[in-house]
Amino acid sequence: MQVSELQQIYLSLGANLGNREANLQQAIELIKERLGEVIAISSFIETAAWGKTDQPDFLNLALLVATNYSPLKALTIIQEIEHQLGRERKEKWGARLIDIDIIFWDNQVISEVQLTVPHPLMHERTFVLIPMAEIAPEMEHPVLKRKMKELLESLEKQEATKS
Ligand code: AMP
Repeated sequence: MQVSELQQIYLSLGANLGNREANLQQAIELIKERLGEVIAISSFIETAAWGKTDQPDFLNLALLVATNYSPLKALTIIQEIEHQLGRERKEKWGARLIDIDIIFWDNQVISEVQLTVPHPLMHERTFVLIPMAEIAPEMEHPVLKRKMKELLESLEKQEATKS
């Protein structure tokens, strides 16, 4: 199903197995083909694994995409792309060839069984906030009401006090 209006959505992509850069590039190509126009691509950043730390480092990036699909249809398309790129869903936060999350859907708040937007952990993850602050520094989180650059700054401060 397509809805008439073009939506601006932000995605976070990560890979920590195989040729990580090639996996991410391929995912971007499939997103262009199937989901919509890719308007912005952040730098690729390397980060230590989050949650389950005994696994290879991740390569992460953020994308701004314009799509006219509905959120649940977009989620299905994203999951098909993950599947096609050989993602095996074995353990939560485990190693993966590709992971694609929906971070924002315009400034909408979505609470469905399969889909929570804004992504509930985005503000706790530097690997999401660094690329987001690069491509959308002034964008405001629709629930937390703080800009990407501010969320990143707070998280970096928080992490600095931990170490
Ligand atoms: P993961 O294994 O981390 O990729 O989680 C995938 C699961 O999270 C799927 O079953 C989705 O239905 C669910 N999910 C909930 N919210 C989101 C979101 N914002 N983006 C992607 N997947 C989501």
